[in-house]
Amino acid sequence: MPELPEVEVTRRRLSALLAGRPVRALRVYERRLRWPVPRTLAAILAGRRLRQIDRRGKYLLWRFEHGVLISHLGMSGSWRVYPPGQIPERGPHDHVDLSFDTALARLTDPRRFGALLWHPAAEGDVERHRLLSNLGTEPLEPGFEGAQLFAALRGRSASIKQVLLAGDVVVGVGNIYASESLFDAGIDPRVPAQRLSRARCVRLAAAIRRVLGEAIEAGGSTLRDFTGADGAEGQYARQARVYGRDGSECPVCGRPIRRIIQGQRATYWCARCQRR
Ligand SMILES: [Zn+2]
Repeated sequence: MPELPEVEVTRRRLSALLAGRPVRALRVYERRLRWPVPRTLAAILAGRRLRQIDRRGKYLLWRFEHGVLISHLGMSGSWRVYPPGQIPERGPHDHVDLSFDTALARLTDPRRFGALLWHPAAEGDVERHRLLSNLGTEPLEPGFEGAQLFAALRGRSASIKQVLLAGDVVVGVGNIYASESLFDAGIDPRVPAQRLSRARCVRLAAAIRRVLGEAIEAGGSTLRDFTGADGAEGQYARQARVYGRDGSECPVCGRPIRRIIQGQRATYWCARCQRR
């Protein structure tokens, strides 16, 4: 599943090629994504200049003067970009082509849980859109720090691992990144979120930023590749220190990495390095 680092890498790649360019055409081959792609979308976008692409959580916000195109990659989606004249034949899972004079952006999504929606400027700030209004803090932006995390965890009795995954405190900390961040911060993934001290929240916030930043860098190493849009998570998994490594030696203390299930998701951790 595409996670925040992968979406951020995609955003950077799309922005570099498409920002500032007018849309030539939008072709929708399959409207049935998680929600139907609006029938009027091609007419809404034709000839309009894309100002910039922002990201909120795992949503890409394609900003135009008259509104925002909201896209999400769902479980299996990806945007690929092709230079004019080098566009491959469309495959069965290629559902949308958004063409500019500089490149074609193609949305591929085998499982079709992705989304492509339009938010007109007349409806106000896109941050208040129903899909975006309940998202937690952006971990890579200045507002996310230990004191803020500490305050947000008050009254949360679920385990810190599960609260991180829930996305309403902080967005984009997927399963790999939750295990890695808690290892980095030396925190037992089972500890109730509200029990974490302020000092440990400071360490955890820093660990989350570091782990996500490294994953973006890992995915960003393929940024020069014109077409590739997936892989940040896959690339990062190779350099993960505990995720997927149960039975291997902890890179810090040498004890075996453990695997447990929390909320039906696997957690990997070191019982010596990570304390309650
Ligand atoms: Zn250890």
